[in-house]
Amino acid sequence: MGATDPTKPGDEAPPGTPGAGENLCPACSGTGKIDGDTCPECKGTGKVITGIGGG
Ligand SMILES: [Zn+2]
Repeated sequence: MGATDPTKPGDEAPPGTPGAGENLCPACSGTGKIDGDTCPECKGTGKVITGIGGG
């Protein structure tokens, strides 16, 4: 569909989901890389979509 921000493995929710938002990727601490390789959880963006609130 030509999405510009496809869901990443580390995302807990698709972009635009109410109550969810971007947060630093816990796998790479927001660096986008792990041991010199692109972080698979955030695809190298350093950010993942996680739920907000709810406790
Ligand atoms: Zn990452």
